[in-house]
Amino acid sequence: MSSELLNDIQPLAAMGSPAIVAGPCSAESEQQTLDTARALSAIGVKVFRAGIWKPRTMPGGFEGVGDIGLEWLQRVRLETGMALATEVATVEHVRAALKADIDILWIGARTTANPFAIQSIADELQGHDEVTVLVKNPVNPDLDLWLGALQRIRNAGITRLGAVHRGFSSAGDHIYRNDPQWHIPFELRRLAPGMTILCDPSHIGGKREYVEHLCQLAMDVGFDGLMIECHCDPDHALSDSAQQITPNSLQTILNRLVVRSGTPVEDELGLLRQQIDDCDHELLAVLTRRMSVSREIGRFKQAHNLRIVQPARYQDVIKARLDEGKRLGLDPDFTQRIMQAIHEESVRQQLTTKN
Ligand code: PEP
Ligand code: MN
Repeated sequence: MSSELLNDIQPLAAMGSPAIVAGPCSAESEQQTLDTARALSAIGVKVFRAGIWKPRTMPGGFEGVGDIGLEWLQRVRLETGMALATEVATVEHVRAALKADIDILWIGARTTANPFAIQSIADELQGHDEVTVLVKNPVNPDLDLWLGALQRIRNAGITRLGAVHRGFSSAGDHIYRNDPQWHIPFELRRLAPGMTILCDPSHIGGKREYVEHLCQLAMDVGFDGLMIECHCDPDHALSDSAQQITPNSLQTILNRLVVRSGTPVEDELGLLRQQIDDCDHELLAVLTRRMSVSREIGRFKQAHNLRIVQPARYQDVIKARLDEGKRLGLDPDFTQRIMQAIHEESVRQQLTTKN
């Protein structure tokens, strides 16, 4: 798809280098909003984020405090001088946020996936070129949808425009909450070289223990900044509790963060290495699962007095895997060696499993 319109997008220099946007997933109370903001301001954060209208997957959860949160945000600016960012998903949200003079509006992943919603937001933004808009990637890994949303906002005359990479929903077991698919933001970078692209390690990782690694990785592959969920009491957060970190932890992460001035070549190498790391994480997770099934089988065989190694079954498995490997383009020798090693370990696990 053509992305000429995005060619002339300039970096959002005012957001800092690297740009750090931090704050709670949701504003929950005036106290929680201000406590978090004060602590973040004290460690030098210049842009405060807080969702006040929350798009929740299931009904009945905490759906945000609504318009009252805009007043809390304004108090944050008054007290700390931080710029304010909040999520908008409807025309009414845009109207209320503009009226409250919010500096940065971000469009969430569920909204980016819907061109009708994006167009109505774009129409409402017409004539408001003072505002900064950040467009998160859509929930599904579709670069064109992301580009299309950015272009609709750009067409509305918004020039302070950036993107946020927060990973993609996917089925099955994964280490991360949202699969990063790094090649997609990397391709966006190629198409819109001047545009600020932030990484959101909180929504990618889904767990606070992954946040630091993802922050460093984002710097290593050339993101311009980070949007990180921070809460003064993460364990009691009303949304996304597992992934939020304290302002203290953020300070530690930022102190340790190594910001590289990478050439595009280094960025590309970093990206490829990251893909290798992701594959290895997945391989280890799958092997762990497979061994746990083996132990289960071991217990079953013991209970029913069956032999651990059943040659006919082993032959069938190896043959099926070799055929599948060949079809997928793997070297048969390699497939055989891997499957033998896995089988050996599986037998060992079954032999050492006690009922
Ligand atoms: C958020 O930033 O709190 C949020 C809802 O993000 P996303 O749209 O990436 O899920
Ligand atoms: Mn969140």
